[in-house]
Amino acid sequence: MTSNGTISAGPGRDLRVAIVGAGMSGICMAVKLRDAGFDRVEIFEKADDVGGTWRANRYPGIACDVPAAFYSYTFAPNPAWTRRFSPGEQIHAYFRGVAERTGVLGRIRFGTEVVAATFDGAEWLVETDDGERRVFDVVVAATGVLHHPRIPDIEGLDRFGGPVAHSARWRPEWTTAGRRVGVVGTGSTGVQIVTALSRSAASVTQFQRSAQWVIPVPDHAYSRPWRALLARSARLRRFAYRNAAWQFSLFGRAVIRDGWERRLIAGICRLNLRTVRDRDLRARLTPTDQPLCRRLVMSAGYMRAVQRPHVDVVTDAIERVEPGAVVTADGRRHELDALILATGFDAHAFARPMRITGRDGITLDDAWADGPRAHGTTMVPGFPNLFLLMGPNSPIGNTSLVPIAEGQADHAVTWMRRIARGELTHVAPTTEATDAFNRRLREDMDGTVWVTGCTSWYIGPDGHPTMWPYDLASFYRMLRTPDDAEYVLDRATASAAVIRPPRVRSDPPPPAGPDPAGGVTPPPPGPAPAVDA
Ligand code: NAP
Repeated sequence: MTSNGTISAGPGRDLRVAIVGAGMSGICMAVKLRDAGFDRVEIFEKADDVGGTWRANRYPGIACDVPAAFYSYTFAPNPAWTRRFSPGEQIHAYFRGVAERTGVLGRIRFGTEVVAATFDGAEWLVETDDGERRVFDVVVAATGVLHHPRIPDIEGLDRFGGPVAHSARWRPEWTTAGRRVGVVGTGSTGVQIVTALSRSAASVTQFQRSAQWVIPVPDHAYSRPWRALLARSARLRRFAYRNAAWQFSLFGRAVIRDGWERRLIAGICRLNLRTVRDRDLRARLTPTDQPLCRRLVMSAGYMRAVQRPHVDVVTDAIERVEPGAVVTADGRRHELDALILATGFDAHAFARPMRITGRDGITLDDAWADGPRAHGTTMVPGFPNLFLLMGPNSPIGNTSLVPIAEGQADHAVTWMRRIARGELTHVAPTTEATDAFNRRLREDMDGTVWVTGCTSWYIGPDGHPTMWPYDLASFYRMLRTPDDAEYVLDRATASAAVIRPPRVRSDPPPPAGPDPAGGVTPPPPGPAPAVDA
């Protein structure tokens, strides 16, 4: 029996599972394991709180640009979202609430960073920064995708004098109201910050290296009666989820094929740009690449914000930082009280800088010398029983990452059930299958918008997009139906022949997950029906 008295992983080994990271995907994995009856699960979190991105990012204007109803676990719908696009604090509170209600919180070792994980041929030795070494059967890297800040190499940055930080390290207590604030970067983060600060700062100077396409997706508050209705009706909550997923599936279709969806989105972006009346400003804000080639920036307020008299978009390159100012290549000195570096993340670190060593002493750095590659986005040849959440080529565009994590966690649970039942002891993909998988992905990038000529964090170190070039339904199908022939399966000495893996759908349905509405059963299946809709 499980901790919640429902489904058991069945007879066999009680697997010891280490989850690295207590962000959105780590919590998801822990709840899925709890529901599948795995009790020996430990979560390592280097910070002192859950939430990952939503714990770390506390910059002015932070909000999710995916509708809140869709940025929720299917097993924990939240009728309490106050807006269509939730503010960051609310999302952080949601993940914390789920971790609390499910008992996951009690399994997290906070302030403990995993520095290394080594496979010794049978088990994983997990080493933490306090020098402790623990043994596990399975390791799940739930380490996030936009986690390691990219700090620009700008001369004099350390001499600025006032508050200066990367957006993911910005402290909310640093005052920006009534101050002269500089913002470096024009991605989703920079646009959110500039839009928010345009309402409260004395002046905002945005330093732009490249212009970005912005689509004005409207936000709105949810009324109390609507939230009360949602709290009462599981059917309505399911509808809200599916509706938001359906709306955002437009972006998914637009990026992978050149059809009416791409043209519609491009047209809306161009119309949005035309709302800028000043020709010179409009020219500065006009990108040179196609809409959607980079991750599309969503903001209904940005074009209004940059037209306010105290907001300036500077396109001359930053030459250096001096005390209290940024100096640009044209010699101008932009006097500032605070400087926010919205300069993005190293999106290709994945589980690193953890030192992960698989079979025969091969490290993940060795395996990924030519760029990160995984089989099915979740597993790497030579690294048995290591699962990646949000691994290479996960569908991480303008969609919700939550159902992506759910699909990958379900996939990992499918393998762990088989190990627990004694059908096998270890699983890792074959090199051949992984090569074929990645070859197919690369070939099928043709026709996607990501290869139309732009740079962004979507593009891997080898110059190819690390994205999923198909629709989400095929992503879930791929994860639900792993083919044994594509994996190296170590069998227990005493075990019978390995049988085909059970499909996730034919496994016993997961028990009712946590429900913020209080006791009403949320939709049990994985995320596929919603995105198929
Ligand atoms: P980003 O999209 O990578 O943008 C980084 C920006 O910084 C770019 O404009 C880049 O210019 C600029 N930059 C980098 N180094 C620079 C330098 N040395 N000098 C001048 N400019 C420099 O990063 P982000 O805005 O943090 O967004 C990253 C991702 O986070 C988003 O795409 C999105 O997936 C996610 N995000 C999501 C939300 C949400 O609401 N869900 C909110 C924020 C972020 P170039 O374009 O010229 O490289």
